[in-house]
Amino acid sequence: MRRTLSTLMLLLTLMPFMAAQEKKPLPQLRYDDNQSLTWEEAINYYQILDETYPEARLMEMGMTDAGRPLHLFVISPEKEFDPEVIRRKGKAVILINNGIHPGEPEGIDASAQYASDILSDRKRMNSELKNCVIAIIPVYNIGGALTRSHYYRINQNGPDEKGARRNTRFLDLNRDFVKQDSRDARAFAEIYRWLDPDVFLDTHTTNGSDHQFTVTLIATQPEKMHPEMELFFRKKMVPELYDRMQRVHNNEMVPYVQYTERGEIKAITGFEEHPYYSTGYSALFNSFGFMTETLVYKPYAERVRSTLQFITELVRFTSENHKEMLALRAEANRMTLSASEYVLDWEQDTSRWDLITFRGYKWEETTMPLSGRKTGTYNREKPYVDTIRYYNYFKPALTVTVPDAYIVPFAWEEVIARLKNNGVQMSQLEADTSLNVESFYIESYEPAKRATQGHYYNTSVRVKRVNQEVAYLKGDYIIPVNQRANKYIIYMLEPQSEAGFFAWNFFDSFLEGQDWYSVWGFESHLKELLDKDPALRSAFEKAKNEDEKVAADPVAQLQWLYQNTPVSELEKRTRLYPVGRLFNNTVK
Ligand SMILES: [Zn+2]
Repeated sequence: MRRTLSTLMLLLTLMPFMAAQEKKPLPQLRYDDNQSLTWEEAINYYQILDETYPEARLMEMGMTDAGRPLHLFVISPEKEFDPEVIRRKGKAVILINNGIHPGEPEGIDASAQYASDILSDRKRMNSELKNCVIAIIPVYNIGGALTRSHYYRINQNGPDEKGARRNTRFLDLNRDFVKQDSRDARAFAEIYRWLDPDVFLDTHTTNGSDHQFTVTLIATQPEKMHPEMELFFRKKMVPELYDRMQRVHNNEMVPYVQYTERGEIKAITGFEEHPYYSTGYSALFNSFGFMTETLVYKPYAERVRSTLQFITELVRFTSENHKEMLALRAEANRMTLSASEYVLDWEQDTSRWDLITFRGYKWEETTMPLSGRKTGTYNREKPYVDTIRYYNYFKPALTVTVPDAYIVPFAWEEVIARLKNNGVQMSQLEADTSLNVESFYIESYEPAKRATQGHYYNTSVRVKRVNQEVAYLKGDYIIPVNQRANKYIIYMLEPQSEAGFFAWNFFDSFLEGQDWYSVWGFESHLKELLDKDPALRSAFEKAKNEDEKVAADPVAQLQWLYQNTPVSELEKRTRLYPVGRLFNNTVK
């Protein structure tokens, strides 16, 4: 990866900000005036920080669908920018992702503010960043950020101009983390693999209900963690972040308000983070993941400040607890290497909840001013405090055993490319080989009627497992399940994963089957077979005697013969999911 922009690009980018001399002042952030940084301004801002402070570095990390590179800005008080060395020194790495939905830009401004504040105050940097390094993606969805309008997210209270939600290919990047259709997502995965962040934060804005809180928080689903990590997360990290936001900043947070029913908020349910979401992806790599979702109705400057406060507290907590956090994560990573089971899907445990304080506004019937529609609305004149249930416990809904390895035929190159892009190690068969594998037949599934993210994704997948010899070709890929990316491998390759490769149609062509028979030639061919094989003939006669349906229906007879003669070998490949599961793998 190249270090920074080329000199020419740099000059062009900086030109508007260059005074008569070469000294480049840092532009003033304008969130107090309801303005957010454009992509160009954000990159320029970090470029100036890079040039001003040796503890900062702006890097280009791969291409995006907008034809512009994705930038990463790193703050390292010891001026060490190689993640491997940083880890070896026992420092925690925090990654902050901004502008995935560029209409929700608080994090873009808050991160810029945080970076300049901390870099310009060496004493504070040396104390708050003593045990960690911070990496910031200034703007992730560059295509969306380049398309700005006052009218995007029209019910949002600023900033004046907002970016578009979708990227240049109209993909929602917060659904693209595992299937990685966008270059953006592939560049992100490259960053994630390189940094291997211990802590991850993705910054957003939320609408829906209205209430008194500015910051709503999604903390990664704790059950996905190793038990000790879960305990630390539930009992220490998350409560302390809530507590510090309230005590130090007088800014009480609430869990992301996913209500159980519209209207007055009676209960909140935990966020089921599928791996296609950012924190779901970060959970695949055992990071401590968070999403801030600040409330659209609060003034922009307040949302930026709140996000900045959360960043400050997240960094402070990580620095103070880095030893324990690194140890827990290392243990989780070790357990991931050898886990014998993996939970593909979770469901809410409705029998368990915590009680939380909720500061809402009274829900009242109202008549809308233009349409005359009768509906409910939150009356900000009538705040109230209540204690409500927060359902944040999940139980496994679908668990799979973990094989020693998967085998993915060479033919499925899009799948192989994505696995490689996520750091998956693999080897190739050196010769055509038959292997005993656990294989799946797709018995039924439902393709979506409308495209989502450019896919007619498959749901309700039912499979039949069969252990059998399957012929593989030289060059097919053996993927051992003993590596850092284990959770990505399993999640993506299991056919019943809600957002695995099968769900996103990567394997659909095999569903059409390989071959079939034509009734014309088939019958005379079968007669020849039966004439030569008396045992087969008597089995056929027996079937006719014993099964009325076979006896009565000539087509059923052909079907019986098709399934019970060597011709049926062809049948083995119909609806056979191409990925095999290997146990006691003897393949080198
Ligand atoms: Zn969002």
